[in-house]
Amino acid sequence: MGFSTLPDMRAASAPHAPCIADAAAALSNGEFHSKVLAAAGVFVDLGIGAGDVVAIMLPNQVEFVVTMFAAWRLGAAVTPINPNLTLNEATHQIEDSKARLIVNTTGESVVPAVRSLPAGKLREGARHAGAPIDDPAALALLIYTSGTTGVPKGVMLDHANLDAMSDMGRMSLKITAADHCLLVLPLFHVNGIVVSILVPLSAGGQVTIRKRFDINTFFDDTARLRPTYFSAVPTIYAMLNALPDSVRPDTSSLRYAICGAAPASAELLKSFEARYGFPLVEGYGLSEGTCASTINPIDGLRKAGTVGLPFEGQRIAIADPQGVHLPQGETGEVLVQGPNVMRGYLGRPEETAKTIVDGWLRTGDTGRIDADGYLSIVGRLKEMIIRGGENIYPKEIEDVLCAYPGVLEAAVIGAPDETFGEIVIAYVAFRAGSTAVPAALDEHCAERLTRFKRPVAINVVDSLPKNAVGKIDKLKLRTMPRSQGA
Ligand code: ATP
Repeated sequence: MGFSTLPDMRAASAPHAPCIADAAAALSNGEFHSKVLAAAGVFVDLGIGAGDVVAIMLPNQVEFVVTMFAAWRLGAAVTPINPNLTLNEATHQIEDSKARLIVNTTGESVVPAVRSLPAGKLREGARHAGAPIDDPAALALLIYTSGTTGVPKGVMLDHANLDAMSDMGRMSLKITAADHCLLVLPLFHVNGIVVSILVPLSAGGQVTIRKRFDINTFFDDTARLRPTYFSAVPTIYAMLNALPDSVRPDTSSLRYAICGAAPASAELLKSFEARYGFPLVEGYGLSEGTCASTINPIDGLRKAGTVGLPFEGQRIAIADPQGVHLPQGETGEVLVQGPNVMRGYLGRPEETAKTIVDGWLRTGDTGRIDADGYLSIVGRLKEMIIRGGENIYPKEIEDVLCAYPGVLEAAVIGAPDETFGEIVIAYVAFRAGSTAVPAALDEHCAERLTRFKRPVAINVVDSLPKNAVGKIDKLKLRTMPRSQGA
């Protein structure tokens, strides 16, 4: 089933059933369909058609999703842009994607050459949009990498990628029309779009959109809206886990929650589950693989510390730096194969050729597969620290730091050093009220880590810098002040 036809199909089969809601509106299938038709009409008026790209620069709201489905109906693609980006950053994405229209909040110009349309105008379409164009090979989403490895690149995902990924998501997560997803992640990332919009909507289920994760209202939402699942990042689970013991929310409607996008410690998963009583299912993936490649089974063995098994229809392998596949149990680069793998990076055939080799996507992550097929992420190749010739993955040290009572979050980076080339530097934030001290934490590391892996400095900060998705921003961390000794 193609997503360009989904609003028509939902409206035809259950016009009055709930579809999508935010703080301003709650739309039935029929109402959502009408909005998509109106917006598509507006786009036709503005000359948008098959092959064009529409940039969406909106916060999380229903109009984001309306714009996306309206563009798809016309055979156009969308490129979501973080609405908080600086002009400079947004300009790169708009120019690189060759967007012909920008849908934003005010209609204020972002770049002079491209028309901006306020989301409020989406309902004023004069023309009829016509029948949906259902083309599996049409470009659907252009997601930009965050640029930690250079200039942000546009990941090209077509409708076949989105269809395949949402089929896999529905099957693994057993999502049906009875499901209700509470969306708290930003919609300008693939996780928000796929896990929290495409998966539930393609199953006939519903979505409630929140602008962002808000710790003060989150449990009011779970009690009142009775969502059946949500997807979030480790930082959010760490924040929820750090709430005072007296907080005992009603989470009885939740079947499970999904955790991904960044490493989560096994400790966090275990203590969260013990406290809140619903499973936390960890998965792993990347934009180049349309969001997700592995997930722990929701009703099978969940192995904390692993990111689970490949989705049915995908394959994973571990390779050495030359791309030679390694035997089970060995550590190397994680490779992914399947109908979810992107078409390539827009306008960058050389980067594409380096990233998709012999039909396998090179993820840039290091991992190992256990005897039961579960993948563990060891670290990111680009974050690897080389100290005196020894390879060190920050994740291993972060896991040790996070296991110490009182530690809320931890991040490890390499700093240049004359003798060793690089040395290991840690940043930790303690929970409110914790009496933990760096010296005791250093001792804890000494008991668990070989000498060369031990941080030479443990810097205590109030909180770690995060990017828009809630991942720890290691680039910013590198610019933060630090002490030299533990
Ligand atoms: P860039 O590639 O430009 O740095 P990014 O990290 O934001 O951007 P995404 O596609 O958003 O790119 O994120 C994918 C990456 O997130 C993966 O390659 C992996 O490093 C990390 N990741 C995702 N899920 C997990 C997980 N469960 N455990 C550890 N790491 C994860």
